[in-house]
Amino acid sequence: METKRLRIAMQKSGRLSQDSQALLKSCGLKINLREDRLIAHVENMPIDILRVRDDDIPGLVMDGVVDLGIVGENVLEETMLERQALGLSVEYKTLRRLDYGDCRLSLAIPQEQVWSGPESLAGARIATTYPNLLKRFLAEQGVKFKPVMLTGSVEVAPRAGLADAICDLVSSGATLEANGLKEVQVIYRSKATLIQAAQELPADKQALVDKLMPRLQGMLQARESKYIMLHAPKDKLAEISALLPGAENPTIMDLAGDTNHVAMHVVSSESLFWETMEKLKALGASSILVLPIEKMME
Ligand code: ATP
Ligand code: MG
Repeated sequence: METKRLRIAMQKSGRLSQDSQALLKSCGLKINLREDRLIAHVENMPIDILRVRDDDIPGLVMDGVVDLGIVGENVLEETMLERQALGLSVEYKTLRRLDYGDCRLSLAIPQEQVWSGPESLAGARIATTYPNLLKRFLAEQGVKFKPVMLTGSVEVAPRAGLADAICDLVSSGATLEANGLKEVQVIYRSKATLIQAAQELPADKQALVDKLMPRLQGMLQARESKYIMLHAPKDKLAEISALLPGAENPTIMDLAGDTNHVAMHVVSSESLFWETMEKLKALGASSILVLPIEKMME
């Protein structure tokens, strides 16, 4: 079905919903959200937000039913393998990897068990929501196993006697520990990502995407950058610049009533660790300020 409005699919409720919504809002979209609605209209641009389960997002994009989607790479990759096996289209374009939704898909076994590499799992029953990623990994290792497909509560499967090991998403590891499991092998690292349908968009929709991408880029770049101001002794400028990541062209200004020091302003590509601040100070820098940046455009 063709629509004039750009369609973006994102998770309705879950770990990626808040950050995804906030990111789109920060790009200037006024989203009129009604919790119970599948479709949210963007008031100030011809965009509709489709709010669905994250598992459905890659398929919606690959089938060209929506134009863009925000989804975890883990779900994207799993769906791709599943669709490939079914002979369905697996084409899409990655527009930008995002800076949230960090997690890893890992193998975990009961704490008391000995781990001597993936071959320890030969013949084991492994519970997972990601059978295709697991199969790919263990096939590469030459290990045969019995998949136990679970869409939830994977971490209780060993205790419940349903499986010998699990392959599940981990961020801190606290859930594993609480269930008497230990993480023994990472098989996939994931973040949220913004993808686009493979087929060409109508010109007006593409123009809208082209307008949004620099904004998104600017937001993400601003989030990982800092504005750093400090006073520096004139004879230490090179050494000080060398300590500031991404500070090739600092702004240097005279200080009123002080001919030995200058004010130095830089946009740094990362935040400063305390250790770096201490080194700057040791070089004679003072009044060191590290400020967040709200937006940027190159
Ligand atoms: P849905 O109802 O949309 O199917 P879900 O239960 O499958 O939701 P969530 O638990 O909300 O999914 O996780 C969504 C995505 O968030 C994951 O696929 C993954 O990319 C990411 N994520 C980040 N950290 C974690 C974590 N600790 N555990 C699970 N997923 C995580
Ligand atoms: Mg899901």
